[in-house]
Amino acid sequence: MIRRLCQMRSGWLWLSLASFSTLVLLVIYDMRLVTPEIDRYFSQQDNVTGHQLATRSRMFLHDTLEALLTETPSLESASMSLDIAYGFLDIDVYRERYACTERSLSDIDALQRQLMKASTPEIARIIEALLPVLECLTDIEIAQRVQRSATVNAFVDEARQHQTLLLIGTLIVYLLGLIFWWFHEKQRRATEKASRESLRWMTKALRDPLTGVGNRDALYQDIAEQPDERMGLLLIDIDYFKPYNDCLGHPEGDRLLRRLTHLIEQAMGEEATLYRMGGDEFAVLMNCNTRETLQQRCAALVDAVTREAITHPDSPISTMVTLSGGGVWFCPADTGFEHAYAAADAALYRIKQAGRDGWEVSHTGTSSQCPA
Ligand code: GH3
Ligand code: MG
Repeated sequence: MIRRLCQMRSGWLWLSLASFSTLVLLVIYDMRLVTPEIDRYFSQQDNVTGHQLATRSRMFLHDTLEALLTETPSLESASMSLDIAYGFLDIDVYRERYACTERSLSDIDALQRQLMKASTPEIARIIEALLPVLECLTDIEIAQRVQRSATVNAFVDEARQHQTLLLIGTLIVYLLGLIFWWFHEKQRRATEKASRESLRWMTKALRDPLTGVGNRDALYQDIAEQPDERMGLLLIDIDYFKPYNDCLGHPEGDRLLRRLTHLIEQAMGEEATLYRMGGDEFAVLMNCNTRETLQQRCAALVDAVTREAITHPDSPISTMVTLSGGGVWFCPADTGFEHAYAAADAALYRIKQAGRDGWEVSHTGTSSQCPA
């Protein structure tokens, strides 16, 4: 599936975006879930925990002793402290884990009974009886502390491991994102280059290499792109170009072709497009709403050629280069290009037959169906 995704036009881009989105999710997961969990754990460390209950129990045993060891011992206060000390020690966890708990609880019970019964208790015996209880509480405190630090260490290790895994995962996802982005960029540049190349080849295929204007295929393409336009087509052929070549040589003939290209383009105006059909024949295509516009352009072209006065060393009709033109005013949707082309060619033929150096716009080809 990933392979098929990569072959898609923007497959790498999607993979890269998916990686960066995963990265954001990982960061949010870390910020929202993992880090607060650790903070919460450590913020609970000061709450009442196992060893603190034992410590409190011991504090109340000390209170019991203090109440008994004064000059006027308070049995009531001693009994109350002993009761509370019992309460703090009477924890299920202590009973389960520390064997001395049961014994200490029954020692406290026995002491309590003694305190209740005797009006003048034997202090020395009470202290002696309390000592094992105190010892038990100290053992519990130490064991609880050890257990707590082991738990904390385990948690810290686990949290560190978790953070390391998260960091490695984040880095891998980030790197994958970068790699996918790089592939996407590479693919995009290759596609762009291929498009540029094919455009260049297409443009080249439609150009005449000598004059740089469009060729016959370009004319057909342009006609096909505007079927509903009223337009003028003018075919132009150089008079006696073969003798010109024979006299001055083909390189000079090429120069004349380029010079005339420039001249015709200028004379026909910006809305007209020039094509070289082959040999010494050109075609001009222009959008024009009336036959008169095309006729005016033909006249302007003849004027321009006359003004340019390019010497022809071997023309039977003039000392200058002259052109013959045959035009048609038409609309492709109405007349059809083949028909219009044949009409223009026939007009050109008539001019040639009539002695050259002139133009005619055919009466064939109306544009009744085309929009005005
Ligand atoms: P016409 O008045 O009847 O048109 O006489 P023409 O001598 O011009 O006859 P035609 O149009 O048949 O001659 C075309 C000539 O154009 C023949 C060839 O020597 C010349 N030609 C064709 N292509 C090129 C080219 O690329 N460069 C040059 N220099 N000459 C070319
Ligand atoms: Mg010719």
